[in-house]
Amino acid sequence: MYAAKAAHGPPVFATGLDDHARARLTMLEELRAGLERAELVLHYQPKVTVDAAARVVGVEALVRWQHPVRGLVYPDAFLYTAESADLMSRVTTVVLDLACRQSRAWHDQGMPVPVAVNLSVSDLRDRTLPEQIGELLRRYGLPPTALELEVTESVLMTDADDALAQLGRLRDMGVRLAVDDYGTGYSSLSYLRVLPVDDLKLDRAFVSRCLGDPRSAAIVHSTVQLAHSLGMCIVAEGVEDADTFERLREYGCDLAQGYGIARPHDAGTTTAWLRGREIAGVVVQRAAV
Ligand code: C2E
Ligand code: MG
Ligand code: MG
Ligand code: MG
Repeated sequence: MYAAKAAHGPPVFATGLDDHARARLTMLEELRAGLERAELVLHYQPKVTVDAAARVVGVEALVRWQHPVRGLVYPDAFLYTAESADLMSRVTTVVLDLACRQSRAWHDQGMPVPVAVNLSVSDLRDRTLPEQIGELLRRYGLPPTALELEVTESVLMTDADDALAQLGRLRDMGVRLAVDDYGTGYSSLSYLRVLPVDDLKLDRAFVSRCLGDPRSAAIVHSTVQLAHSLGMCIVAEGVEDADTFERLREYGCDLAQGYGIARPHDAGTTTAWLRGREIAGVVVQRAAV
């Protein structure tokens, strides 16, 4: 929990609030300062083809907050608060910039690996987002295929027409779109009819159980077929072992991500991991040792 004592005590205006509210205010104050001090960093988790080659087709950027006192803070601990306080657009702006900058660096090192960024519900309400992304790609001299965006089904819960229009605009720009955590939201099937997306990322709740639980296995197998019938690419999340990878291969799953393939790591470690691997058809030279 984030309720630990703040370095400078609770803010004056928080007097009388309960611990939870005080902790929230403290966090917001620290997050605002952290944004100013550029404390947000990205870790990257590779996404590979489900075959013997296991070629890298991209990496997903996952935000962390390098807090001066608390250490590395994970997104589940601060994004909800950021979202509820309208700080999310600032977080997203930083994340998109860091992701594009890193993608540029990898391109320059002969590793043109696309970077996927997670968007939140409020991001899709921001009508300037497509413009902002277009500007970023221009600034870093990147093709739109260098960036992918992941959204959960929940972005469509409020103002679905608006969100769909935004997604359509982004996809028209040539940016690849994915539905994240597929299967855990609501109305999955009805939205599949209209969502302009390229990839379905099947939630790890199903993937991690597909060896031991026949129902989960049936869901994984049939979702692979569903995605393919819709012309979408299917990505299995949360692949933790070789047997699951092999089972996914039998099911015809396209891509996989998970601790069993690679955990999320900082840019330096990810760069080392990427060297010597085949990136979507491009063979990257192994660093001389
Ligand atoms: P997600 O986008 O579904 O990302 C996958 C999460 O599962 C990551 O957690 C990743 O570290 C974890 N994971 C990956 N493989 C495995 C595995 O094999 N086993 C297990 N147990 N876990 C695995 P993380 O980094 O803590 O991120 C959590 C969530 O926070 C993300 O879920 C995403 O929804 C959100 N998030 C992360 N970064 C951002 C961001 O920059 N912006 C926004 N809006 N949301 C973000
Ligand atoms: Mg994601
Ligand atoms: Mg996910
Ligand atoms: Mg998730």
